[in-house]
Parts: sequence; structure tokens; C-alpha cells
Amino acid sequence: MKRIAILGSTGSIGCQTLDIVRMHQDIFAAEVLVAGSNADLLVAQAKEFNPNVVVIADESKLDFLRSALESLPIKVYAGAKAIEEVVMLDCVDIVVAAMVGFAGLRPTLAAIKAHKPIALANKETLVVAGQLVMQQAALNGVPILPVDSEHSAIFQCLNGERHLTPKSIILTASGGPFRGWTREQLESVTPQQALKHPNWSMGAKVTIDSASLMNKGLESIEARWLFSCPPSKLKIVVHPQSIIHSMVEFEDNSIKAQLGMPDMRLPIQYALTFPDRLACPAAPLDFAAHSNLTFEYPDRKVFENLQIAFDAMERGGNAPCAMNAANEIAVKAFLQGEVSFLKMPELIRETMSRASFVENPTLDDYMQSDAECRAIATEILSHR
Ligand code: NDP
Repeated sequence: MKRIAILGSTGSIGCQTLDIVRMHQDIFAAEVLVAGSNADLLVAQAKEFNPNVVVIADESKLDFLRSALESLPIKVYAGAKAIEEVVMLDCVDIVVAAMVGFAGLRPTLAAIKAHKPIALANKETLVVAGQLVMQQAALNGVPILPVDSEHSAIFQCLNGERHLTPKSIILTASGGPFRGWTREQLESVTPQQALKHPNWSMGAKVTIDSASLMNKGLESIEARWLFSCPPSKLKIVVHPQSIIHSMVEFEDNSIKAQLGMPDMRLPIQYALTFPDRLACPAAPLDFAAHSNLTFEYPDRKVFENLQIAFDAMERGGNAPCAMNAANEIAVKAFLQGEVSFLKMPELIRETMSRASFVENPTLDDYMQSDAECRAIATEILSHR
């Protein structure tokens, strides 16, 4: 029995992780469920999966949660500190880090320090503090198993290779709903249009990041740390059908790819069962129905966020942390109709240009940098 803590159980990845637990109840148990503020769904999940502990980040929901679960032997806590504590419990064998944003960093680090293997969906953790997180993982002998479909694909392609430094890592991108659009066309796009991803159904933040190609930038930084890959070896190919989830090119120009239907349950399950494989609810690939697999290169002038992310990765230090904070503010503002789609990269660039630079940041430096950049981005927005 593998006992799982799911950070972000009420989100898109969290709910799909619970689909897998539901399907393989003889192998998996959801022992800890952590939500942000969706207390109703957390209660429903607790009643179905009967975990040991539930935690809600939003402390104002604690009383509601306690009374809704009072007839069950489930411990109920609230707040950020509690999240960091429950990942360390003895009843946890693996942590699925599926909270969205910077908030995922501290609990993931706490779990690593408690020697818990991590199934990592929360890409912002590695974007912000990849070097620190990977160092801590190595120090504590903790595997970081990728959940992001691209990184799962790369992980699968590298599996069994003796020389783990490939010639290049090729991340595929769907291109999002605005693939091929010009800057003029992008000027007036609405959040509703940006939230309509052609292939994947995901949470709002990652869907907007996909539309702006920031997601591919974040994933490139994630791959840089997960696979110790220098930025110069990271390539992006737009593949609108999302059937090839990513590729690895070796010295001899041979390329390995991992294919499958776009269904996150496959990489989530693989992270939980690695090195084994189990039957999965994801549909099998029907080649005749997907006979047209196409490829193109992204336009980094139109989708500036991709270039911003590569520049931040090259600069290093706390630059990706600053970019991530500004992007989180930018996405929120875009969703609330406060900035246009094309103003997001402007806001990120301006925030980064004003942010303090730290060459070798500690965890405290990252916390400070995140807070500083959120304040700068919010201040810039207030003058618009
Ligand atoms: P969602 O927005 O659907 O879910 C986010 C989850 O995080 C929710 O359970 C939310 O709780 C919880 N949460 C938010 N803030 C906090 C907080 N401060 N403390 C505790 N929990 C919090 O996001 P996704 O599931 O789409 O994405 C999660 C992560 O996985 C992201 O980093 C994303 O980039 C990554 N990812 C997602 C993919 C996908 O297909 N969805 C694919 C690959 C990576 P609540 O809703 O209760 O407020």
C-alpha cells in the first residue's frame, strides 16, 4: 500500500490523482488531503477517501471543515504551517505536490527534508528554487518524480540510457489557443478565450501560462533542474496535437519520444508507480485517428514570455523567482480584466528590472524576492 499526501487535492491535478487512487484502491490510499480554500470539495473528498488528515490553507474555513467532518475520525487543520507539518507524518509514503504557484515551495522542501519521495506537478517550485530543491533532494536521497507530462516524457526517454547527458532535450508545446496569431490579433483577447485550451483541461493559472507560452518557459527551467540540463541544450517545438509529450536527442542524432493521449492521469500514475506500470484510465492512442502529427517553432517575438523565461534562466540567481512572482501577479490581473494579454510580459519585464538581484539565494532570499516582486508588480499595476 502506498500512502499518499496530495497537496492541492481540490485542483485539476489533485482530482485526477484521486481518480487514480479510486481506480487502484488495493495499491494507493489518500492519507493526507490539502486544499487552498474549496472547503466543500475537500469535505466531499474526505468523506469518500477517509484520509488520516485534511488541511485547508484558508484558516477562515477551519470551523466549517471541523463541523462537517466531526462524525469521522479525521484530523482537521488549517494554515500554511500545518501544511508543512502534515507532509512529514509517518503515515505518508509519497507527496504529490500539486498546489499552484510559489505556495508549493515550502511544503515541498519540508517533505524532502522528511525523506518523502515527491511526485512533482508544482513547476513553480523548481522555477523559483530549482538549485536549492535539487540539492536538498540529493542530500536527503529523495527522488523527484515528474508529473508534468513533458517532464514525465523526458524522464521515460532517459530511462535505461547509460549516458544521462543528452545532446538536447526537446520540450513539445501545443502552442495554446493563440498559436499562429499576430500581436495585433492578441491585443484584444479575453480571459475566456485564453482559458479555452485546445487539448488539455487544467487549472486557470497553468491554462493562461499555456496561452502566453510562459508555461513552456517555466517548464524549460523545470527541465533544466530536473535533468541537470544546461539552458543551451533545451529546445522547444510546437506540436499542436499534443500526442508526443516531449523528446530527447542523443549524440548520434537519434531521438526518443514518448507518445500518448493528452491525459494527465498517465504521467501522474507513472510518478506514483515508477518503476512499474499499471493499467491506466487514459485512453489508448489510435494512430489512424491521429495521422497528422505536425511541428513548428514558436514565435518568441509574439509570445515574449518564452524569451523572458529563457533570459531569466540564463541570468540565474533569483531572476526566475522574480519572474515567477511577477507572472503570478500578471496572470491574476489578466484573469480579473485589469491588464491585457500583451501587457503581461511588459509587467513581468518591468518588475524584473526593478527587483534586487541575488546571485546565490538562500531560502530566505527567495521568500524576500517573491514578496518584493509581488509588491513591485502590484505597485506598477496600481499606476495603470
Ligand atoms: P488548480 O488551480 O486546478 O489547483 C490548484 C490547487 O492548489 C487547488 O487544490 C488549490 O486549492 C490549491 N491551492 C492554491 N493555493 C494554495 C495554498 N496557498 N495552499 C494550499 N493549497 C493551495 O491547478 P492545477 O491542478 O492545474 O495545477 C497545479 C500545479 O500543477 C501547478 O503548478 C501547475 O502548473 C501544475 N501542472 C498542472 C497541470 C494540469 O494539467 N492541470 C499539468 C502540469 C503541471 P483550492 O482550489 O481549494 O483553493
